[in-house]
Amino acid sequence: MAEEVRVRIAPSPSGNLHIGTARTGLFNFLFAKKMGGKYVLRIEDTDAERTSQAYIDNIFDSLKALGLEWDEGPDVGGPYGPYTQSQRFDIYPKYAQKLVDAGFAYECYCTPEELEAEKEQSQKNKVAHVYSGRCRNLTDAEKEAFIKEGRKPAIRFDVQKAQKAFHDSNILTFKDLVKGELHQDMSLIGDFVIMKSNGTPTYNFAVVIDDMLMKMSHVIRGEDHISNTYKQILIYEALGEKAPEFGHLGMILAPDRSKLSKRHGATAVSEFVEKGYLIDALVNFVALLGWSPSDGEEIKSVDEIAKDFRIGEVSSSNSIFEYDKLNWMNSQYIKKLSLEELKERLKPFLAKYDLNSITDAQYSRMVEVTREPLTILSDITDAVSYFFGDDVEVDEETKAKVLDGEVAKKVLPDFIEKATGWDFTEENLHEKLEEFRGFYKEQGIKPKETMWAIRAAVTGRTRGADMCATLCILGKDKVIARCKKAL
Ligand code: GLU
Repeated sequence: MAEEVRVRIAPSPSGNLHIGTARTGLFNFLFAKKMGGKYVLRIEDTDAERTSQAYIDNIFDSLKALGLEWDEGPDVGGPYGPYTQSQRFDIYPKYAQKLVDAGFAYECYCTPEELEAEKEQSQKNKVAHVYSGRCRNLTDAEKEAFIKEGRKPAIRFDVQKAQKAFHDSNILTFKDLVKGELHQDMSLIGDFVIMKSNGTPTYNFAVVIDDMLMKMSHVIRGEDHISNTYKQILIYEALGEKAPEFGHLGMILAPDRSKLSKRHGATAVSEFVEKGYLIDALVNFVALLGWSPSDGEEIKSVDEIAKDFRIGEVSSSNSIFEYDKLNWMNSQYIKKLSLEELKERLKPFLAKYDLNSITDAQYSRMVEVTREPLTILSDITDAVSYFFGDDVEVDEETKAKVLDGEVAKKVLPDFIEKATGWDFTEENLHEKLEEFRGFYKEQGIKPKETMWAIRAAVTGRTRGADMCATLCILGKDKVIARCKKAL
């Protein structure tokens, strides 16, 4: 029977869930779905100083919001738990000792200062720095002397030893699921620390032990981990274990091709949600960072993507995070929402207004006539501001261009007088405004200008939602009061 497919997303809680980690999570999720496998969440919190509960909560919430629910993980448990590395600290030393006993790892008593000096020397000599290996063959007496000095040993992996034991040459090769065959000269790796002197594992060691004990079949992650993969393969070999298959995804870059960072815009999933991006749009957009649908149709649900997803077809190059494209995609998803759904989703972005001051029917109409240009949900906050409150803020341009002009002075007093007698239904307003415009057209005022004057007085702007609907939602009293004020 073929081995069960088991993949994982293993975020380090040193920040809110990054959109890049979400992409890695999604690709693992899609792969598991496609292969009928299991998708596991593991929290990699070995670095206590950089970890916080708020980040862990954010990671959980964001992954759940994205619909990337895990089969096994810290909260739901599973056969290979615990799934939080800080709860597994009793596991790692045993395996480190196993490597020491087998001769593939050794105690290193070098101080940070000594290591720094070595590095500086390499820099001076203009050679790539690898650890000298000077603790590789310490005698018991030397070790005891160090301990007497108060030094605590770290444990280092002996790369040379592993290379000699398992390889005919210096070149380590593996077949990456995404990038094809990759190579590394092992003499450039240098003996790396697997257990720190404080007794905690390094990333490279904990990840191997966990992936091994959690029976991961495939490790799919960003290409920034390729240099780690070689070290991890060496550890698997030294432990006599089969390594999982690896697939490394290209990086996600900002439009200026630098590393995606805050200065380009939102980077955490929760920030995108706060700004009013729809989860479905985000997931769809993120899936296209490195993957393309076979039929060229980009707007796709997760289920449709999962059916079409093949890890071997994922692009091996970097992807550009085009905020413009995400905005376009988000606007498409907003258009697809039913009116009722959209009304609900917009509510958080209308918190500063008194929604109780309008009826549900008015709210519905307001959303109907303002939804068209929405790119992100938060656009609604500004788009509907003139529907609320008694007064309206008039922007400078509108004041100068429209309200201070001759047309407004002529049209508005008449509008106030006539509208006072009108029935404020949309149908009726349509008719009446048509007549009103017609009347001024005969006097040489363009219908557009007549409408501008009314719109400017009522909304403070020259552009906005359908005029009749706007007047109707606001109601006669407010419309007339605002026109009077504008005059
Ligand atoms: N904790 C690592 C990270 O957040 C995960 C790396 C891995 O997938 O092995 O980058």
